[in-house]
Amino acid sequence: MLGAGVVGVSTAFALARLGHDVTVIDRHRDAAGGASHANGAQLSYSYVDPLAGPAILKSLPRYFLGMDRSVRMGIRSSSGYLSWGLKFLGNCTPGQYRANLRERAALSRQSAMVFNNLVESLPTGALKPSASGKFVLVDTEKQLENEKARQPVYSGLGLDRKVVNRTEALTLSPVLAGIMQRFCGGVYSRTDLALDPAAYCAALVSGAQNFGTTFMFGEAVTGFAVTGGQVTGVRTANGCLPFDRVIVCAGNGTPELLVPLGVPVPVYPVRGYSFTLPSGEKALSVSVTSLRHKIVYADLGDTVRVAGFFDINRATSTIASRLRELLNLARRIWPDAADYDHPCSEWTGCRPMTPSGVPVTGESPVKNLYINAGHGSLGYTFAAGSAARIAAMIGPANERGIPDDGEPEYAAQ
Ligand SMILES: Cc1cc2nc3c(=O)[nH]c(=O)nc-3n(C[C@H](O)[C@H](O)[C@H](O)COP(=O)(O)OP(=O)(O)OC[C@H]3O[C@@H](n4cnc5c(N)ncnc54)[C@H](O)[C@@H]3O)c2cc1C
Repeated sequence: MLGAGVVGVSTAFALARLGHDVTVIDRHRDAAGGASHANGAQLSYSYVDPLAGPAILKSLPRYFLGMDRSVRMGIRSSSGYLSWGLKFLGNCTPGQYRANLRERAALSRQSAMVFNNLVESLPTGALKPSASGKFVLVDTEKQLENEKARQPVYSGLGLDRKVVNRTEALTLSPVLAGIMQRFCGGVYSRTDLALDPAAYCAALVSGAQNFGTTFMFGEAVTGFAVTGGQVTGVRTANGCLPFDRVIVCAGNGTPELLVPLGVPVPVYPVRGYSFTLPSGEKALSVSVTSLRHKIVYADLGDTVRVAGFFDINRATSTIASRLRELLNLARRIWPDAADYDHPCSEWTGCRPMTPSGVPVTGESPVKNLYINAGHGSLGYTFAAGSAARIAAMIGPANERGIPDDGEPEYAAQ
């Protein structure tokens, strides 16, 4: 197994639970060292609309011209960016958008189910969401009407969404008083959760270790050993390690590893930023997303995670100013959500985005080499479901294997 982000640790746990001898290799010193580290912390099971769709087309000029605070697209040319961008545009047709939404909804439903099983399987309290319920807020009546009109589509996809106006939102969650004057309502999802992704990874690492999984941190994989069209091991600076199967959960590192094998994976990094802040006077106890500003607020107990912005193909020299912009904008939108003057930490990371918004999950053309990557802006949400899909493809190692949706078994190990 390659990669110990939310996707890698979820996959390792799912396979270890099926009785496989699993080794996870990651170049970071610990789990969640990449895109998973301090993400928005939302398990956003109900709001899974892909970025690529007809609606984004009219905003693209503003993004390219730097006229939108929350989304910036650089114009530096690179062949990877160009081909990814063209595929992204190909996914903006109404038909492709609907197909991608359906895929993401199915993965999301499965992920919610598997996450609940994980809560039951791991020791009590190991996976304890810090907030439940999420509002995605919109600022115009027209958007609210659109959300209402589309409600049957989402209900048909099994997504738990309720359109609420400002008064209804405040009744459901009076803590929103400090933010609702800017918004006319939004979509409320009762079953969406918040949980620190670093805590999620730590719990899954420990759970996988209890099933015998080995973690090799601080080790970079440089390539694969392939014999007769079949993967036989991975190469690192310290030599070649033999494995029967390899699952690549390397997020943004996936394309450069697989291109030499003739397996192109259309994953492109989309940068975002986050702050972890001391909680404000009142606990938020819900998650909130501002659709227009592309900012999320998640209650993590003593702290609040504020995350957001989508920057594509931009110089890293802009990171410091973008962090400042995020903090200032988040404060302006919801002043009493957190103590903005004393951030506990700041962070930036890149979402591993596919053009369609649907992750690449399955066996590659190289036998016994699997890919679980490209989870984009909802990788944390999708991690449990896509791990279960890989585990189902590979199947139990032997009679010790426990089916993914089986009874809690942790105590028996
Ligand atoms: C600002 C921001 C906010 C977000 N908010 C949310 C949210 O609220 N909800 C949500 O669902 N998603 C969110 N996401 C998206 C989510 O964080 C990602 O989709 C997810 O973390 C991807 O997980 P991953 O395991 O695929 O990748 P990573 O976490 O990046 O893991 C890949 C791992 O592979 C390792 N690796 C790569 N190449 C090699 C190599 N050659 N050798 C050894 N190791 C290697 C890396 O070190 C890394 O640890 C957010 C992302 C960002 C940036």
